[in-house]
Amino acid sequence: MAIIDVFYEHSGSGYRSNPPQTHTVSRAGRAGWQLFASVVVAYTFAFGPASVNGESPFQLATFSADATIPLGHRCMGVLPTKSKKIVDPLLARGFVLLGSDQPIVLCAVDWCEIRNDAYEQWRRALANAAGTTVERVLVSSLHQHDAPVTDLGAAKLLDEVGLTGELYDEAFHERTIARVAAALRQSLQHATPITHLGMGQAVVEQIASNRRVVAADGRVNFGRGSRSGDNPFHRDAPEGLIDPFLKTISFWNGDTAVLALHAYATHPMSSYGKGQVSSDFVGLARRRRQRDAPGIMQIYVSGCSGDVTAGKYNNGSPLHRQQLIDRLYNAMLQAWEKTERQPIERVEFRSANLTLEFHPGADLTSESLREVLNDTNRSVEKRILAAMGLASRLRVEKGQGIDFPCVDFGCAQVVLFPGESFVGYQLMAQKMRPESFVMSIGYGECWPGYIPTDSTFDERFEDNWLWVAPGSEQRILTALDKVLGEPR
Ligand SMILES: [Zn+2]
Repeated sequence: MAIIDVFYEHSGSGYRSNPPQTHTVSRAGRAGWQLFASVVVAYTFAFGPASVNGESPFQLATFSADATIPLGHRCMGVLPTKSKKIVDPLLARGFVLLGSDQPIVLCAVDWCEIRNDAYEQWRRALANAAGTTVERVLVSSLHQHDAPVTDLGAAKLLDEVGLTGELYDEAFHERTIARVAAALRQSLQHATPITHLGMGQAVVEQIASNRRVVAADGRVNFGRGSRSGDNPFHRDAPEGLIDPFLKTISFWNGDTAVLALHAYATHPMSSYGKGQVSSDFVGLARRRRQRDAPGIMQIYVSGCSGDVTAGKYNNGSPLHRQQLIDRLYNAMLQAWEKTERQPIERVEFRSANLTLEFHPGADLTSESLREVLNDTNRSVEKRILAAMGLASRLRVEKGQGIDFPCVDFGCAQVVLFPGESFVGYQLMAQKMRPESFVMSIGYGECWPGYIPTDSTFDERFEDNWLWVAPGSEQRILTALDKVLGEPR
């Protein structure tokens, strides 16, 4: 299913590929500008819906709200150590893009994963607050690991076996959604006209490396994790397949920047598992950038990075965390300096329905999962994992697909992938539109866990965080092809 909505604005000013011009005119020049503007309006009316009096029909509202978990809260769904200390707050940051049709929302949350009915809770609440449909709400987790995994169906299954609140605190979850929705609603009162889109990218030095490493005997393994930097083999092995670019899309009102959206493909953790709650190096780089430019909302999203971590360059030490912050911050700065702007002439929204099959493993049948869930001799963490698997399995059996949305600005596209899509997918997305600026975001609907490409499935990638079947690549490519659209 593809939903296509098109908004048009004709700039009429003929500066399509040039830097934006200032809209400030002197008093003496105003009469001439108005005459010019009326000609532009007459001209654009001949070509369909257009701006009014030369003003942009697009507006942007930005919001930020606290999403920090309480102490004693489960992290990453299954980690044994619960939150012990809030090192820095977790945030939900986003924007509402308003135009001549229904609003489009993007919300990036400093959480590990939001799944199944919990994901729908977020989208429904934000859609209501923005006055739009659920399909047009893009929610992405940044995927920090000392942060929550939420899944309403899994929570209910755990409730039935006496493990209430073990996956996450449902009351906290609902309060957070309400807080973010209220922030969004409030932001609409301060929506700013936007006239231009900025695009910039920079190579990130020494952060990302692929989990995949090849041993001296030629055997492949995926053992390089987030903090493998103390292991000489993992430290010295090549970076492997990564996307080296941090991409920044910005929204401008004339010469004034309103928002910068940064995307880079890596797992965002320098260290985790000790209950030290933090937005980690990605959130801390974002905060530093925000301090530089308080008037420009800074949003960071994680790209398709299921198989990418900072492992080659990070051993989990405070020193390495600081280095990762510095390197990501520097890339944000460089991407900003390289930004080129174009007038926003149109925004199109498309969404495909993606269905991914459930993994056929013997330990992932309904019977096996129920057995583990009910087994009081198993660890709580194993039973939580079984509940998560079962909730997803039930969703897939119901035939509920995944929305696969794309916001298309003509010169740039923003695509939201589900779960821990591997980096190969975002490289494929960019390759499909080589002339365009394609920003891929990962960790939308997160039930699938890892989403390997065909080649990584062929190399026997296995993990207990893997719930999709081999063959996902073709399904994703078909959905991508639908939403990325034809080159113009
Ligand atoms: Zn992960």
